[in-house]
Amino acid sequence: MTPPATRPLVAGNWKMHKGPREASVFCDAFAAALEAEPAGSADLLLFPSAVALGAVARHPIVERVGVGAQTVHPEPSGAFTGELSAEMAVDAGATWALAGHSERRHVFGESDADVAARVRACLRAGLRPMVCVGETLEERRRGHLEGVLRRQLEAVLPPLDDTAADAWAIAYEPVWAIGTGETASPDDAREAHLLLRRVLGDHGRAVPRILYGGSVKPDNAGELLATEAVDGVLVGGASLDPASFRAIAGASDPR
Ligand code: PEP
Repeated sequence: MTPPATRPLVAGNWKMHKGPREASVFCDAFAAALEAEPAGSADLLLFPSAVALGAVARHPIVERVGVGAQTVHPEPSGAFTGELSAEMAVDAGATWALAGHSERRHVFGESDADVAARVRACLRAGLRPMVCVGETLEERRRGHLEGVLRRQLEAVLPPLDDTAADAWAIAYEPVWAIGTGETASPDDAREAHLLLRRVLGDHGRAVPRILYGGSVKPDNAGELLATEAVDGVLVGGASLDPASFRAIAGASDPR
């Protein structure tokens, strides 16, 4: 197994917030915040709405911040009204895409097979997939944490057969901690991340960066980023504000 990357990855998922104009305003403010106080050690990434991808990708901030789509359709083009293909996301300037975010799984009904199809589409188009996995509260209470994470991760391993560890990532996002203000404890995060590494090891796979996501805020980011086996964070609500996303981005820097 290859050792984990040393630079943490701090990513923001804007969900259905910010059109192109608001995205540009954010980028101006975030660039100014980074200029005033650079977040030195972290790689940075934003997942704007589909309609704001181009605005972020054309902003000078992309010298410092990567850009990704929140989801892509499995097909490259066709009669799929309202959808975004991986090829179109690349055309708009994306280099990453989320696959299997819990809202896609639980609100839009995407199955493990659907997530694998989206990972395949990312790789076909040259996007780096960030595969989200995580258990519901009910699954955790029933003792199904390992089974759920193993099933969700194993579903995407076949398309990733020939993909280098630095060309994809995993986000462990316990569903009960997303947008709820509940954060997994560092011990919970460590347990899940080590479990995911074990699953990868069982399949002889190199380990990509594994991010923690779920109510990450400026005041808990440092502790989570310092946790064993946590290689970064995926941030929802707190990534919408330039100052709070800047604070999270800098939370891994030595003080
Ligand atoms: C997310 O949407 O991936 C997420 C982790 O959201 P929040 O930080 O708001 O819980």
